[in-house]
Amino acid sequence: MTTFELVNPATAEVIGEVDHSDAAAVDDAVAAAQSAQRVWAGLAPAARAGRLRDFAAAVAAHRDELAALEVANSGHPIGQARWEADHVTDVLTYYAATPERLSGKQIPVTGGIDITFCEPIGVIGVITPWNFPMTIASWGFAPALAAGNAVIVKPAEWTPLTTIRLAELAEQAGLPPGLLQVLPGRGDVVGEAMLGHRGIGKIVFTGSTTTGRHVMARAAESVKRVTLELGGKSANIVFADCDLERAAATAPYGVFDNAGQDCCARSRILVQRSVHEKFMELLEPAVTGVRVGDPTDENTEMGPLVSRAHLEKVSSYVSDDAPVAFRGTAPDGPGFWFPPTVLTPQPTDRVVTEEIFGPVVAVLPFDDEADAVAIANATDYGLSGSIWTDDLSRALRVSRAVAAGNLSVNSHSSVRYSTPFGGFKQSGLGRELGPDAPLGFTETKNVFIAVSDGEGKP
Ligand code: NAD
Repeated sequence: MTTFELVNPATAEVIGEVDHSDAAAVDDAVAAAQSAQRVWAGLAPAARAGRLRDFAAAVAAHRDELAALEVANSGHPIGQARWEADHVTDVLTYYAATPERLSGKQIPVTGGIDITFCEPIGVIGVITPWNFPMTIASWGFAPALAAGNAVIVKPAEWTPLTTIRLAELAEQAGLPPGLLQVLPGRGDVVGEAMLGHRGIGKIVFTGSTTTGRHVMARAAESVKRVTLELGGKSANIVFADCDLERAAATAPYGVFDNAGQDCCARSRILVQRSVHEKFMELLEPAVTGVRVGDPTDENTEMGPLVSRAHLEKVSSYVSDDAPVAFRGTAPDGPGFWFPPTVLTPQPTDRVVTEEIFGPVVAVLPFDDEADAVAIANATDYGLSGSIWTDDLSRALRVSRAVAAGNLSVNSHSSVRYSTPFGGFKQSGLGRELGPDAPLGFTETKNVFIAVSDGEGKP
């Protein structure tokens, strides 16, 4: 067992340390999870539903504590952190309905009846990133538990605290011990051991596309099921016929929320050439008006980046000769601060093609609808995007033409617990959330029962 220091991103101060598990801990966790899963799957559906509702209630009762942990460990603004804790409650409440509704089918056949069962896979491994620690963990564990599985979560190295607390609350709320376990540790130690473990039937991975490819390759060794939620480089497409004031006023929040550390960040703003100049005039006050600062302040809209290493990575994209149009503000002094930054680069520049995962946005002009769609799709990613237009037909045409999993028209909304979420192309594989997510944690079993004709013939 080794220890790992945790740092408050807003102050650069060490706030504590966490024990890191080793590979052997994965063996022990899987054994405990297998026992707990048998107990869990043996409970009546209504009893499992009740325990999940109790877990949701426990999260609601500890909302302020969870939010404060996320502020200290991840630097999220307090208002956002409260939303995240509430979202976990909502996700659990939504999937608490699953155990009593997860029904198979009865299929017409000759000579008998045919029925299907949605059997739990068994033990699910959930590997999460550092940008939205508790919400992303809940997207994996809530539907997986609801479908009758046990879950082992490996949180990201920098941000384990809320996930650890959620597992404690689960046990206090009456989930069988071992049913939801958290193993803090390194990706190349605990994560690798999870990928190689024969007792884990599915991996839900959220993180970078590079690591996601590796996860998929290793999962193939034992034909593990995988869901992958990976990177993005989403487009916010602004047509000349839209409400330009609103498009400009909201654009910063479509990319700078969570300091741009959001897989759905609209980090490319494509603006129709005829309104490009006007849009930039309107965008500047919106960007300089983003309130960047102390995450514990109720009025703060954007906090720091998560770590010094990540600050260095983001900074490397904005060199002294970068085509900066304008920037917002950020505090001086300790902490990993980076101001909202608007660039007007060439289409081939790496700030246009690579995921920066920080508060940096590239604005590019386009000529017409076909040009906008072509630029939006000129990426290996395909996670989300926005389309601003007052023309309903255009909104639908472009929504169908953009190759991305989550699009919003005249807004920047991406994630609702009741609707499916996930990426096209190299942004991922499979979908989380929405009504069908629990099915992703089951195996379909088909059973045929012969019915004799009553005259002794089979
Ligand atoms: P990352 O890929 O570096 O790490 C993600 C997780 O994988 C961490 O827990 C890490 O410890 C673990 N890991 C690393 N190497 C591993 C290995 N060899 N085997 C098993 N696990 C391993 O990503 P990150 O920097 O933590 O997160 C940022 C990335 O996540 C961005 O690309 C972002 O777009 C993406 N992301 C995607 C979504 C989505 O839903 N599509 C949501 C949030 C973040």
